[in-house]
Amino acid sequence: MYPPPVQRLITELGKLPGIGQRTAQRLAFHILRSDAEDATALADAIREVKERIGLCEVCFNLADEARCRICQDERRDASLICVVEEPGDVIPVERTHEYRGRYHVLGGALSPIDGIDPEDLKIAELYARVLAGGITEVVLATNPTTTGEATALHIAAALRERAPDVVVTRLASGLPVGSDLEYADEVTLGKALVGRRTL
Ligand SMILES: [Zn+2]
Repeated sequence: MYPPPVQRLITELGKLPGIGQRTAQRLAFHILRSDAEDATALADAIREVKERIGLCEVCFNLADEARCRICQDERRDASLICVVEEPGDVIPVERTHEYRGRYHVLGGALSPIDGIDPEDLKIAELYARVLAGGITEVVLATNPTTTGEATALHIAAALRERAPDVVVTRLASGLPVGSDLEYADEVTLGKALVGRRTL
C-alpha cells in the first residue's frame, strides 16, 4: 500500500508497546512531515541509547559506564540495598527522597507460568552481593502484584537462610495492589518506604 521504506517505518513503530497499527501510521506520517533534522535526531537518539547504555556491573541499573551513578556515589549508604524489578523503578524511589542506599535491579519478577525462573533474574547476583558482606538491610521493593509479592517472598526466604544477620524488609502496605511502582505517587511511595516492615 505504501512505498516500502514507509511500510518499514510503520512496521518498526508498530512493534513498540502500546502502539497499534493506526498509531504507527500516524507516527510514521508525522516523521515524514517533520524536517530532516528532527527525524535524524530521533534516529540518532535510538542508535546512541543502544550503543552507549548498558547495565551497571554491580546493581544492573542502566549505566553509561561500567558502574551506574548511584553505585559510583560515595555518599550513598552501601550497607542498604533496595531491590526493584526494572531500571524504571529506581526513579520513583529516588523521587521520594526517603532512600539513601544502593539498588539491585532484578530485570523482572518471578513468574513460573511465563517461564521466568530465578535463573532468569539477577537473583544469584543479589545473594553474592549480600554474602560479600557489609550489608545490614535489604529492602524488597518489587511491585505490589502477584508476581512481585512472590518474588519478594522467594528472596526473603533465601536470604533468611543464607544471611540470617541481614534485616529483610518489604515496603509498607498503602501502595495500590496490582499496580507498578512506576505509577505510585511519591508521597505514597515515600510513606511505604519509611514504614517498611521486617519480613
Ligand atoms: Zn549500579
